[in-house]
Amino acid sequence: MKMKKWGVLAVAGALTASLALFGCSTTTAEEGAGDEATEASYTLVNEGKFTVGVSPDFPPFENLVDGEYVGFDIELSKAIAEELGLEVEFKTLQFDGIPAAVAAGGQVDVGITGLTITPDRQETVDFSDPYYIADQSVAVMKGGEITADNVDDLLNTEGMVIAVQSGSTGEAYAQENYSNATAQAYGNATDCFAAMQSGQADAVCMDKAVVEQMLAEAYTDAEVVKQVATGEEYAVAVSKDNPELLAAINEAIATLTEDGTIEDLTAQFLG
Ligand code: GLN
Repeated sequence: MKMKKWGVLAVAGALTASLALFGCSTTTAEEGAGDEATEASYTLVNEGKFTVGVSPDFPPFENLVDGEYVGFDIELSKAIAEELGLEVEFKTLQFDGIPAAVAAGGQVDVGITGLTITPDRQETVDFSDPYYIADQSVAVMKGGEITADNVDDLLNTEGMVIAVQSGSTGEAYAQENYSNATAQAYGNATDCFAAMQSGQADAVCMDKAVVEQMLAEAYTDAEVVKQVATGEEYAVAVSKDNPELLAAINEAIATLTEDGTIEDLTAQFLG
């Protein structure tokens, strides 16, 4: 009798417990479904992955060191991916092809590669809120005829060659401001400095922080003769067909701004 009574109580208890569990798991499932609905509202080239198009020859923003992607944009990409609950995957592309690759879709979800917001690019891709403000600068080999005092006159003459990264704002700056010179486009940043060092180019025009890093790391025989406060805004390029992804990235950038992550990355890589 006693046993039976306990038995009934135990069953009742188990039933209550399982109802409670059931109630609990229903709530969780609903929340889960909600999350899935949010994720499913944007498209990804690979499920569960945040595939980032990058040109890793632009330190301190992106570079390859011993086969590893490193730099400000790399850490930012990882942090955004984490906010989105996705795994980050980097895909190396030549810089000037990245906006088109983002626009075309299929290869990468976004471009995070020191990309300045420009009206031209905005015709083909959407940009997130900016995460960094950049300037331009002009570098030459030390001891040459071009100096900080004469750079604007001397560089703007026929026969002068300015090495620039193909499709970059540095290329546009050189073409607009040194229109008598030749802006010679190279696929990546290192090639621009190599061309100048070997005498094929008289100057390099490129984003200031990158020029400074290149000079400090590898081209100590070059110097900066001009800095221009272009106030360019770096942002994440997203396909115009993926507005929900853009919104989610903006939300992530807002969080990473508020919690100090972006400030910490700036201090770490650009301090
Ligand atoms: N910020 C420049 C641009 O957007 C250069 C970027 C780069 O070369 N990675 O054109």
